[in-house]
Amino acid sequence: MIRTTLLASLFLLMVSKNSTAKEFCFDEVTYSPSQTTFRLFAPKSAKKVVVRLYKDGQAGKALKTVKMQCTGEDLWTSTVQGDLRGSFYTFDMGQGETPGVFAKAVGVNGKRGAILGEWPMSDDWDPVRPVVKSPVDLVVYELHHRDFSIARKEAKYPGKFMALTEPWAIEHLKQLGVNAIHILPSYDYGSVDETKLDKPQYNWGYDPVNYNVPEGSYSTNPYDPACRIKEFKQMVAALHKAGIAVILDVVYNHTYDIEHSNFQRTYPDYYYRGERSEVRGEMAYSNGSGCGNETASERPMMRRFMIESVKYWAKEYHIDGFRFDLMGVHDIETMNQIRQELDAIDPTIFVYGEGWSAGACALPNEKLGMKANIPQMPGIAAFSDDIRDALRGPFSDDTKGAFLAGISGEEESLKAGIAGMIAHPQVDYAKVNYSKVPYALQPTQMMSYVSCHDDMCLVDRLMASIPTLASLPTPLLSRLSPLQTEELIRLDLLAQTAIFTSQGIPFMLSGEELLRTKKGVHNSFESPDSINQLDWTHKTRYPQVFEYYKNLIALRKHHPAFRLGSADLVRRHLDFLPVNGNCLVAFRLKNYAGRDDWRNIIVILNARKESAEVAVPNAHYTVVCQDGQVNEQGLGTFSGNQVTVGPQSALILHD
Ligand code: CA
Repeated sequence: MIRTTLLASLFLLMVSKNSTAKEFCFDEVTYSPSQTTFRLFAPKSAKKVVVRLYKDGQAGKALKTVKMQCTGEDLWTSTVQGDLRGSFYTFDMGQGETPGVFAKAVGVNGKRGAILGEWPMSDDWDPVRPVVKSPVDLVVYELHHRDFSIARKEAKYPGKFMALTEPWAIEHLKQLGVNAIHILPSYDYGSVDETKLDKPQYNWGYDPVNYNVPEGSYSTNPYDPACRIKEFKQMVAALHKAGIAVILDVVYNHTYDIEHSNFQRTYPDYYYRGERSEVRGEMAYSNGSGCGNETASERPMMRRFMIESVKYWAKEYHIDGFRFDLMGVHDIETMNQIRQELDAIDPTIFVYGEGWSAGACALPNEKLGMKANIPQMPGIAAFSDDIRDALRGPFSDDTKGAFLAGISGEEESLKAGIAGMIAHPQVDYAKVNYSKVPYALQPTQMMSYVSCHDDMCLVDRLMASIPTLASLPTPLLSRLSPLQTEELIRLDLLAQTAIFTSQGIPFMLSGEELLRTKKGVHNSFESPDSINQLDWTHKTRYPQVFEYYKNLIALRKHHPAFRLGSADLVRRHLDFLPVNGNCLVAFRLKNYAGRDDWRNIIVILNARKESAEVAVPNAHYTVVCQDGQVNEQGLGTFSGNQVTVGPQSALILHD
């Protein structure tokens, strides 16, 4: 089945020896005004490989069909005379037309590759890339282009890359204080028809088509191949100028389908895991992605593809980080090689992923980028479903609550999350919900979060899982009474206080700061705008929510004690304080942790419906977070060794 592995490696060796400054990337178009050379990685055994040239990006017959020659092991080339600038092309090796796997510019809907004369914004377009010393200094904000801007009244470019260049957008992000935007799939994906943008269409975009081209529906003109490239870069430059890093959600683990994929159409069955039946000769594809297929990162050319693709985004588009969708489908070795190659470009480029798959993979779990294998992947982080579910309840049942619902038994998982999922003498991992051993060697390997685009957003989950907030049949924010709304907000703020005081890397879903609701929809990947869009009127309707998020983020950013960044420092400076009873967690960051200005910081998280007493070391304290308010300057002072924390809220004090 793995019939080309060796050949592919030899080929790669040969190619890298021969290539000059530019590395060969699977398929390549080298343009000059007098001629254009096409190269394609396709099996030597192919009967016939052609390039077709077109005037248009999608319509019309080929102007010319040119036969390619096999000029190396699995390398096909052809040179066409004349000035092809502005033309489009496809390759065809008998499996259907394709722009190749590494097209860098395409026509509408990504069907045909585009030959550009001048490359859009080729240099000096982004002089100020933000740099963070440690990933633990990041505050990550996960955003879908359309969610964020489609309902914003003053948006000039609703739903587009360019929306993130607009003053209202930048201002909001800066006000909130996030310093990294993780954008949902922004490469060219298949589920939105770019020729019908006059009709509202929505998709998260987890159906990759062209991995190395920005998505057309987020550009102002998907027919113009240069437009999406230029506008994506303008977006990155505007965010960078505002000190905000840009993280790309990358989905190499599967493609939209197999039959029409560019992988399959250039090198059949090479890029996917599966087994060929000996009797019938058919491929049985593995489906660890839950989307019908799974790619084979362990094969040299798939591995090389992933490496070259992230390098391309990092170098060409100045991307600051990568979030690997279903990282648990990829093998550990590939993830480590990606880390190494990105280190060579810029070691601050941040890599994290979902440390799980969505089904059984064709490789054993111990070889895969699973959360439990994070100790074998230094410099790579994984989302902690441990802290997420300890707070809100399990993925499998939206109506099931946990700590926030006042249900006991999740305290140890929460403590593990607060410590950054590292080994800590006061955390008993036997009592942790999922990770029975610490999965992180360093707190920078843990993504701390309570909600993301998947599942219900925090507000909906609270309404679905907290009996007193249930407004049946559908949980709707607008149906809550003022008292219910107050309780909802208390719990929402409590949840994020756990996240933003965790030693892991804090991550939030866009809109949570506006008390976002998706009207109870769990999987809104293709729901209409009415479900997914941010309702900006919430910013004035629930001003206390935005205010708390903003001040909480500022508190974290101003106080290194909350982001020590090293497991040793966390173990030295983080103590959990003894408490009586359940649904109460208290900890202290002691002795000027991380050279903080504050000597000791005490954080108490109380999910009970009544207030709680907690013993603290005797001192004179300044309260900086209490009853739904955060103020670093102080909300009051107090001396003694016993504090009261209000119901369903957090208390933070320092001496
Ligand atoms: Ca597309």
